[in-house]
Amino acid sequence: MKLATVRRDGGTRLFASNASDRLFDVLDAAGDDVRSLSGIEDVGSLYRQGQEVVQAFRAIVDANQSSQVPSFPLGELDLAPPVIWPKAIVCIGRNYAAHIAEGDSPVPEFPLLFSKYANTLVGDGDPVVDHAITKELDYEGELGVVIGRRAQRVAEADAMSYVAGYTVINDISARDLQLGDSQWIRGKSLDTFCPIGPVFVTADDIPDVDALRLQTWVNGELRQDAPISDMLFKIPHLIAFITEGITLEPGDIIATGTPSGVAFGMKPPVYMRPGDRVEITIEGIGTLHSRIVAPS
Ligand code: MG
Repeated sequence: MKLATVRRDGGTRLFASNASDRLFDVLDAAGDDVRSLSGIEDVGSLYRQGQEVVQAFRAIVDANQSSQVPSFPLGELDLAPPVIWPKAIVCIGRNYAAHIAEGDSPVPEFPLLFSKYANTLVGDGDPVVDHAITKELDYEGELGVVIGRRAQRVAEADAMSYVAGYTVINDISARDLQLGDSQWIRGKSLDTFCPIGPVFVTADDIPDVDALRLQTWVNGELRQDAPISDMLFKIPHLIAFITEGITLEPGDIIATGTPSGVAFGMKPPVYMRPGDRVEITIEGIGTLHSRIVAPS
């Protein structure tokens, strides 16, 4: 099942599809079942309602897939982030060998965690601000993992059962701030620094996440191209490592790290400027589009 958070009538609504690229408003389709879906305004709030509601939601999507409910291609929808208010966005640094090499960074012995705040989240097609306080705006295409149920001290063998599904993330980074400050918060968490989407795809639709491929284009030029299987620490290990001491809640996001090909690794680096376009594709999920704009 594919889900998208859509801006509509001053709020957001959850659109879905399990068969085609045309999505429909599930609340509109729900009819008399509408009470069970009240308060669901994004993927996070759906999963916070618990598995029973998720199943009810899925049943409505199944029942209406071939009905006369109006449906829309993604390109016609105003997309918000699939998850609007995650409690945590846990990011993994240095999780692909070739990216570690391009940054002359040491290979981590265990996952390197940092975080982004929810102020960073923007949807597909939304502008990313080239803030005046940075001269080194960079992109990082990443697979995003969305947690489906409370995860606390999860064993690696059980970890995948806590994954609701996947999305595409651009871990926008201000390199001068990231490397100039002693912590990464400013470098990673300025407003608009986490484009995410265009959609969320449930885990059952992606039986082998390692088989996916990630590609990033800047102004149409291919910059990143790597299989997800190149990850140093795999998703089950990441979930086990994080939840040893940090409880993850439904809707929380793990940004799993970026492969090589970021601007920082180019000689000389070609950082992003207003007017640039970034597209990140993960096959089976979709393409996340961003455009860089000057601060207003
Ligand atoms: Mg990253």
